[in-house]
Order: sequence, then C-alpha cells, then structure tokens
Amino acid sequence: MRKIQFGKPMLSSRERDAVQKVLQGDILVHGPVAKQFEADFAQFTGAKYAVTTSSCTASLHLTHFDRGLGKGDEVIVPAMTHVATAHSVELCGATPVFVDAEIRTGNIDLAKIEEKITPKTKAISLVHFLGMPVAMDEINRIARKHSLYVVEDAALGVCSYYKGKHAGSMGDTGCFSFYPVKHITTAEGGMITTNDEETYKRLLRKRAFGVDRTVAERTVPGFYDVTMLGFNYRMNEIAAALGIEQLKSAAEFHRIRETNYRLLNQGFREIPEVDLFESSNGDFVSSYYCFSALLGPKVVSKRLEIVRRLNELGVGTSIYYPQPVPAFTYYQEKYGEKVADRYPVASRIANSSISLPVGPHLGAEDMSYIVSSFKTALAGLA
Ligand SMILES: *Cc1c(COP(=O)(O)O)cnc(C)c1O
Repeated sequence: MRKIQFGKPMLSSRERDAVQKVLQGDILVHGPVAKQFEADFAQFTGAKYAVTTSSCTASLHLTHFDRGLGKGDEVIVPAMTHVATAHSVELCGATPVFVDAEIRTGNIDLAKIEEKITPKTKAISLVHFLGMPVAMDEINRIARKHSLYVVEDAALGVCSYYKGKHAGSMGDTGCFSFYPVKHITTAEGGMITTNDEETYKRLLRKRAFGVDRTVAERTVPGFYDVTMLGFNYRMNEIAAALGIEQLKSAAEFHRIRETNYRLLNQGFREIPEVDLFESSNGDFVSSYYCFSALLGPKVVSKRLEIVRRLNELGVGTSIYYPQPVPAFTYYQEKYGEKVADRYPVASRIANSSISLPVGPHLGAEDMSYIVSSFKTALAGLA
C-alpha cells in the first residue's frame, strides 16, 4: 500500500550543508545569513524590502502593532482563514470584523467588504486562501477609498501571483510562513515584505526590542538606546540558512505542485459527488498549497467516514479550515455570532471540504492513487 503524507519538508544535502556552515561559526543571530535571506526574498517576490521574523503570526502581529492598532479599532478579516489572521488583531486589543468567503475560490467575498466598514475600521487583512490570490486591485481600491492599510496573509502565498505580481507585494505589508508543511520551510519562521522604506526601518527596530541601532551599527559594543516598544521576533541564522536554500527550490516545487494539482483536478471532475474550486486562470496563479474537494449534498454527512477510509488506504488528508474563525470557542465566547447564518459560504467550506496533498514530495502515480482511493472510499459508503 502507498503511504502518501499530506505534507513533507523537502530538505536536501544543500540545506544540511548550509546549516552545518552556520554551526561551525560563532554567529547564531544578528548575522549576515538572515540579511542574505531578506535580500533574496525581496528579489524573489519583487517587494522592495523584506524582514525576517520568527513566524507568520509574529509577522501579522508586528505589522498591526507597528500601525498602532488598538482598542476600539476594527479590522476586516475573512471568516475563512487560519486563526492567526484574526488573532493578530485580537492581540492588539482591536476587533476583527469577519466577512464571508465566496464559493468559487474560498477567498474573501469582495462584494461584502464595504458593508462591514465603519468609522472604526483601520485595515483590511486578507488571506490568499490555499494560495489562490485575492484580486488585489479591488482590495486596494476599497482600502484607498476608506483610508485603510492592507495586510496580506501570504502564509500560503509563496509563488502566488496576481496580474504577474507576487503575493505579499501588493498590500502595505505581506506576511509569510516557513512552517514545515508550507511551500518552503525554515522549521519555524516568517517574513514581512513591504515597498515602503519607513515601514521597513520601523519593522527592523520593533522586531528587536525597539533598539535604535543594530549590533553592526554599534560603535561601542553593548552601547545602544531604546526609542520605541518592540518584541523579540527575530529569525536565527540556522533558520535563515535553511530559508536561503529552500528559496532556490521554490520555483521547481511550484512546478511540481501545479502538475499534481492539475492531475487531481482532471480526476475529480469525473466524480459527480464533489464540487471543486476554480483553478488558476488568467490574472490568477495559485501557489497550489493543496487540492480541496467540497462534498456535495449526497455524501457530505459521510465526510468523516470518507476521511477515515482515505487514511486507511494510506492517503493523508487535512481540512482547511475546520471551522470559520468566528465559530472557534474563543471567538464564540467573546462575540457569539450566529456563524451558519452570517457566514454560510465559510460554513459550507468548513463543513464539506477534504483537502488532499499535491506537494513536491509526490508525483503522477500518487495523484492517480488519490483519485482511485477517493472513488473506492465513496463506493464503500453505506
Ligand atoms: C500557517 C499559517 C499561518 C501561521 O503561520 P505560522 O508561521 O505558523 O505562525 C497564518 N496564516 C495562514 C494562512 C497559514 O496558513
């Protein structure tokens, strides 16, 4: 039987050598490797500046914190996203105002954003859902009209492109994740991209305690001042060494993901019990994080049984996301929204999707095995 993992970090001797090299030196943080990763990532995404961080959640929090987001402020957030998109707003004491998804892609419903904007709204933080880019022209149009800043949660956006522009380079900031099952990994790690020099300079300071000069800029060792409030959200040199090597493979990983995705898409079109999201086309190039199938009315009540059968057949699965964010207990206890009524599309996606792997650890035979296993699982239903 095949064993198809949902996600798997792709590490080679290149990554191992690069890590060894860092370990053979004395500089573990504040060093040239993180600087190099930032330069490489800015070049790769076409953003002017990039700042390494300890995670995407740190990136999101830091960017809202830097904007002075606080109590009484509101931020537009998709109901269907990773909880970090909303938590980063909560962490600043502000309120996430959720907007439902649209069913073609799972992305935020652009037509429903403006009705949620109030005088308290400060920002739109959107997610490129499973790597499918949001129409950023429309987001930026709404943001400009209402003087809002735009944060892209591009955690799954490495190699997502909208009109030829890389995800994360179109909002005020873009936040990336290098968690092990993302497109590229540094074990734990993140990045913030921005095109604004002042934002870039502030993020560098606030990422490291609000200290006014970097280690390299200090003329007297240990001598510095602290001019603002800040965190320790830095990335270490070992993680950055991984990132540099991973980024060299990103385009090749993306090519394999796309091939795998198209194979699954072809196979699943012949399965009438499921609905599919739209694939990439024209202005929209997905990063193909995974392939999500939405179970139709005939089989949706059997989702857990289908998942169990797939897993028994050796097919790793996941669910993106298990609930709309406002349905999680923390948000229910705080806001108590009637989620099924207010966010019907996000609820449909949460309740009916099964996510399947397309990562670069897999090939064409794995994809046909996934399709045939899915058919077997459906055929076995009572
Ligand atoms: C993984 C993920 C995050 C969190 O990333 P971390 O690096 O683990 O903090 C945030 N948003 C989305 C969309 C994600 O997929």
